[in-house]
Amino acid sequence: MNSLTQKTLVVMKPDAMERGLVGEIISRLERVGLKIVAAKLVKVDEELAIAHYPVTDEWLEGVGNKSLGDYQKFGLDPVQSIGTSNPKEIGHQIHKFNMEYLMEAPVLALVFEGNHAVELVRKLVGSTLPLLAAPGTIRGDFSNESAIVANADKRSIKNLVHASGEVAEANREITLWFPEFKAD
Ligand code: GDP
Ligand code: MG
Repeated sequence: MNSLTQKTLVVMKPDAMERGLVGEIISRLERVGLKIVAAKLVKVDEELAIAHYPVTDEWLEGVGNKSLGDYQKFGLDPVQSIGTSNPKEIGHQIHKFNMEYLMEAPVLALVFEGNHAVELVRKLVGSTLPLLAAPGTIRGDFSNESAIVANADKRSIKNLVHASGEVAEANREITLWFPEFKAD
């Protein structure tokens, strides 16, 4: 195994399960040469949801500002839609939506391994906001969601998959979801 062989966590979120897109998504990841090295169906409890989405000021403000950017772009009033224009408060609401989303129905968690696995999976998954995700990516091809639409419905952006964003995040998440999985 060379030093660029990585492992990354992929979680098929409830909308991918519900819409029957799991096979399609797995094939897209497999066809670039990534291999499944662990997989299981998980009914996520609150403890796992909290641990999966740790709250940091940076994340809260980042995600809140992303939403505010969308409101501005479309000339909408964030207070009317989500009750506040404070990025951190918006972030807290989105965090709650994320936990509810993950716990809504059983999800399929997988560990993929391969060259540059973390970056490669993120590239194939596409941008967080499906509206901005490039055609050819999983989120760009199978979803039409935006922050505004999801916030107005008081739920997470349904973007089909979770994929670790960085190597350190992947290592933390694999240990969290697959404590039985021993790193080699
Ligand atoms: P990811 O790494 O691309 O999944 O994105 P993040 O880690 O930034 O956010 C985690 C999840 O929160 C996303 O996958 C979305 O489901 C959800 N999310 C992110 N931004 C927003 C938002 O502005 N509004 C809502 N409702 N959900 C969001
Ligand atoms: Mg993320």
